[in-house]
Amino acid sequence: MRAVAVTPGTPNSVHMQEIAKPSVEDIPGGRGVLVRVLKVGVDATDREINDALYGNPPEGDDYLVIGHESFGVVEAVGPQVRNLKPGDYVTATVRRPGGSIYDQIGTYDMTSEETYYERGINLRHGFLTEYFVDDQEYVVRVPQGLKHLHVLMEPMSCAAKAVYQAFEAQRRMKVWRPRTAYVLGSGQIGLLTTLILRLRGLQVYTVARGEAPNLKSELVAGFEANYVSTRERSLEELVAQTGRPDLIIDATGSSQLALQALQLIGHNGVVVWTSITGGDKKIEVPGDQVNIEWVLGNKLLLGSVNANREHFEMGIGDLALGETMFPGTLERILTSPVDGMENYGEMMRLLVEDKDALKVFVNVADE
Ligand code: BGC
Ligand code: ZN
Repeated sequence: MRAVAVTPGTPNSVHMQEIAKPSVEDIPGGRGVLVRVLKVGVDATDREINDALYGNPPEGDDYLVIGHESFGVVEAVGPQVRNLKPGDYVTATVRRPGGSIYDQIGTYDMTSEETYYERGINLRHGFLTEYFVDDQEYVVRVPQGLKHLHVLMEPMSCAAKAVYQAFEAQRRMKVWRPRTAYVLGSGQIGLLTTLILRLRGLQVYTVARGEAPNLKSELVAGFEANYVSTRERSLEELVAQTGRPDLIIDATGSSQLALQALQLIGHNGVVVWTSITGGDKKIEVPGDQVNIEWVLGNKLLLGSVNANREHFEMGIGDLALGETMFPGTLERILTSPVDGMENYGEMMRLLVEDKDALKVFVNVADE
């Protein structure tokens, strides 16, 4: 069957690759779920993989099938599979367990090992192909009523984890009633994080570069949050207006902004970093000032990557709630469809060049 792959280590190597069709029997214990792929989303991680800044092939292969934001329909299940049946809409988690205790209890997103396995990213083939098979543990049902949001399940799971981790970590406060949050970045993670925080009742300021009005500012307004363009207002001016925020989630892809967030956060607050920055940029920070403010303010910095099954389920719950609270807003994120895997060139072009493409995804097959 056909797949879209890269040759890790070689920049701009994206190409079509013939691979074997998987079957339910590939998974031991009768736990296999065979999925026919309908749509796959791509993001900045795929761009970095195609730039050979990130990602590795599975052992023994010189290519990596890309695609980690999956949406498909169950084609067949093994005899031990519960809760999934042919015809169900599904997505799949990305990371697969290594050997640490965290991996063994279903929290592979928190592995303590240096090596991590991620489908479509690192050491495991991805989903941008016709079929994939996996253990039922990693296949997550998507409600029929959310199928129009298809490839948003995986990015939403990462946003859900980031917010959940912040609240978990803040249990150190005994009482934590965050009122104000800044979301830095208005790409898919920034927008989905904005939604989650609005559903939790926070006042949210979503910070982006572009001047309003634009699609992103409309989406932010659609979630009843505040869009802030750094072209019109600096972050310092924003702090002067809102007071220091209780929570900052950075999803800009810029280490400059991730570090700048350290100078903005309020007392007892938490900064969450979610971006993958594959480059080697050096940033100067006012070290003494940050150091003293962080100590005197009991501030916390936390990194958040990937998502396990529970975060997928939380994210799907919040997408459903988001649809009832702000109907019709989420689907406007899905700006840029590409028809057919063979148009991978157009897919990469949209990803790299089209500044208005909020979410690029491939229509792999019709239902
Ligand atoms: C993916 C995550 C993954 C991370 C790091 C992101 O683009 O959505 O699932 O853990 O990249 O590889
Ligand atoms: Zn991703």
